[in-house]
Amino acid sequence: MIGNYNDLIDQYDEETILLTPNRRLAAVLQQIYQAHQVEKNLSVWKTPEIMPINLWLNQLWKALNTHPTETLPILLNSLQENYLWEKVVKIATENTPLLQLSETAHAAKAAWGLMQQWDISLDHPSFETTSDYFTFKKIALLFTEFCESNHWVDNISFINLLIKNNRLISSPKKIILVGFTEVSPKIKNLLEAFETQGSSIQYFTLNNNHATSYQFAAADKDVELLTLARYAKDIHEQYPLAKQGYVIPELDKIRDRVQQVFTAVFENEDHFNISAGKSLTHYPIIYSALLLLKLNPSATPLDTFAHLLHTPFIGEAEYEKTARTHLHLQLRKNNFSVINLSTLILNMPHCPLLAKRLTTFLNLQKSQPEYQSHAAWMQQFMQLLTLLGWPGERSINSPEYQVAEQLITLFENLNALDHIDERVTYFSALHSLEKAASKILFQPKTPDAPIQILGLLEALALPFDYLWIANRDDLSWPEQPKPNPFIPKILQRELNMPRSNASRELEYCKAITEQFKLAATQMIFSYAVKKGDLALKASPLIRDLPPISLSLTNYESIEEKMLRSKHIEWYVDAKAPAITSTEKIQGGTHIIKSQALCPFRAFAEWRLHAHDMDEPSLGLRGKDRGQLLHKSLELFWNTHHNQENLLHLSSESLMNALYQCIQEAIKESNIKNNYPKKYIQLEIKRLQQLLLEWLEIEKKREPFSVIKHEKKVQVKLDQLTFDARIDRIDLLENGKKLIIDYKTGKYNSIQSWFSDRPEEPQLPLYALTDTTQTIGITFAELTPGNIGFKGLSQYDLNIEGIKLFSEWSTQLTQWQTILTQISADFYRGAAQVDPKETPSTCLWCTLKPLCRIQEECEIT
Ligand code: SF4
Repeated sequence: MIGNYNDLIDQYDEETILLTPNRRLAAVLQQIYQAHQVEKNLSVWKTPEIMPINLWLNQLWKALNTHPTETLPILLNSLQENYLWEKVVKIATENTPLLQLSETAHAAKAAWGLMQQWDISLDHPSFETTSDYFTFKKIALLFTEFCESNHWVDNISFINLLIKNNRLISSPKKIILVGFTEVSPKIKNLLEAFETQGSSIQYFTLNNNHATSYQFAAADKDVELLTLARYAKDIHEQYPLAKQGYVIPELDKIRDRVQQVFTAVFENEDHFNISAGKSLTHYPIIYSALLLLKLNPSATPLDTFAHLLHTPFIGEAEYEKTARTHLHLQLRKNNFSVINLSTLILNMPHCPLLAKRLTTFLNLQKSQPEYQSHAAWMQQFMQLLTLLGWPGERSINSPEYQVAEQLITLFENLNALDHIDERVTYFSALHSLEKAASKILFQPKTPDAPIQILGLLEALALPFDYLWIANRDDLSWPEQPKPNPFIPKILQRELNMPRSNASRELEYCKAITEQFKLAATQMIFSYAVKKGDLALKASPLIRDLPPISLSLTNYESIEEKMLRSKHIEWYVDAKAPAITSTEKIQGGTHIIKSQALCPFRAFAEWRLHAHDMDEPSLGLRGKDRGQLLHKSLELFWNTHHNQENLLHLSSESLMNALYQCIQEAIKESNIKNNYPKKYIQLEIKRLQQLLLEWLEIEKKREPFSVIKHEKKVQVKLDQLTFDARIDRIDLLENGKKLIIDYKTGKYNSIQSWFSDRPEEPQLPLYALTDTTQTIGITFAELTPGNIGFKGLSQYDLNIEGIKLFSEWSTQLTQWQTILTQISADFYRGAAQVDPKETPSTCLWCTLKPLCRIQEECEIT
């Protein structure tokens, strides 16, 4: 049968049942039926038998179950089936554990479904031909064994029982299948069984007699999407009641982009509906709930804990917002990459309400048995979330409410897993919850809209006034064959199974294209002429269609509109207010360094306090190692004072002395508690070796005394006084001083002290603190494999790496002038975005989003 749906509904009578491939088409036919009844002036009518085929199969199963002579197996629901597949995959592959267990279980279930639909037996010899097929056979046999021994039946195999017991079910007089492109052999068998019982089976295909189809070529995919959104808006403005459909293949993957483009074009979200639901786990309210349940008392990763600190879906999130943010920053600063919650709770004085919630949460978690039923775990999950105050103190909006309801329903549905496994652990139950949530594609209910954006298969056979199908290029349509990896390919080809071979795909896609061509009054198939560097053409399936030329209303993005509607005044804002006497400036000599590198950077860092967050790492960070080294050397020289004492130490005494100093440094730094003992011992050994090598170099110098270590000084430059801490000052034999700066990183260069904008102004600045006595400055580089001095001196000190610099006095005067100017610039508010060198100065700077340098030039 072929025609439009009005004709179909006109012929419908109470002895007919209409079956559709999906819920959406059934709903459309129901609506048409209702409209017909209203036209007939009826106020009440019997609900018509119009339903998706899956619902009908379930109704047949229920009917068979009520038959007194039959004892049927229990039909597994999809949650139970997924769980059972995962369980059998785990058992079947226990000798070669899989990395992606759930994904394999999902693929095995899909293969099993196809096999059942196409009546393939596991006994077929081709299942022995490769290890993948054989493994699948093993898994599938285990699955059937479980089902048989427990008297269960899965969601496809139960059709066999419907066919076998068909005579026990009353058969409808007429069955009409609407909108099916193809029907599997298994369903055909069932329909034939009904036919032998006297039912008439018919197929109905939509045919809109006035359908006209076109092709449209867009410059690229972005233009294609924007054009179809603009077209939708134009049509909607001309014909507000017209039903429009926009079919975007793989809609689930680009849903957010599609939403963004349509919202921008329509300037609101009221006129269109996007059908692709999102996985439940992608909704923040559910994501947070699952993450909260994963809190591990002894080892919660910082990222998980950080989410807890910032999520709004937890008790007192607003009230303690600032304190929780500070706690997060503190944890990062102290390099906590993994959190022991029980210990942390004792150290959260500023977040007392969170600490209280966590305490009760952990107590309840601790008091549970190791194994219990899914039902008991689900109840406990709910309790745990309640203890943490989920879903938060603010009122949630309607979509959030609907999504939260889904989770609560899921808690109830997962009780059904107790039929399969009676007792499981906390994390096993949580895994089932998470997996089940990830498989639910949910879309909060929104009011009906005249414009529908859909995926390819759900749009099939739906009636529209205007329909647009995107992505019809020669690379994408017909689709590439994609045989199921677990079913022997030879079998799939022989039986002409879905996606099994190219000619089948061609025929199938042809049929779909023809079906679409009849579905709307105006139909456009579009494609992009390029994808990256690849040139594309129209799919061969649409090449015979005439091209359409669209004259659409001009489109301007909101940004363009704003720009056009306003008179633009340019204001170069490169100067901040000068520093006032009440403004407290901290940052020491780092300020001069930042100002020299980029004035905006200095302004943002030291006046706006825009600093990057610390990045925790599993071991000690570079800066922690640097601090340990500085402290250890300070302690060493505080005890041994000069080179003479160093030379008098035997190797053993030196080793012991270093060991003591490092131990003491670790104790003072408080890092001991954060790392395993073994790790700390390794760090001590590493540092001891490094310092030993360093002191060998010190032994070879002319005699010296270390007169200052970590000396605090103040340097006045122009209006500002900077606090500084000089790593070390050595008194030399000639009574003069050498300033030393320890460096634990490589690539320190003397060149960085020169130019009008010195990149490392620290040592030149220290030199200015005592110009009469200081005769040299030097880096002391202590990196494994890279140890030595790098410096300059007025006199030849006979130290490798320290060069004689005869213009020392002139240079001191120059540094005074340059550094004073830099300080004055900072003081007066010079804040222009002016990196010393682009892109190298900006490469590791974290202020890019603030200064927006990337709008000027590309920095990768
Ligand atoms: S990214 Fe470059 S321009 Fe921007 S603040 Fe940092 S150094 Fe200056």
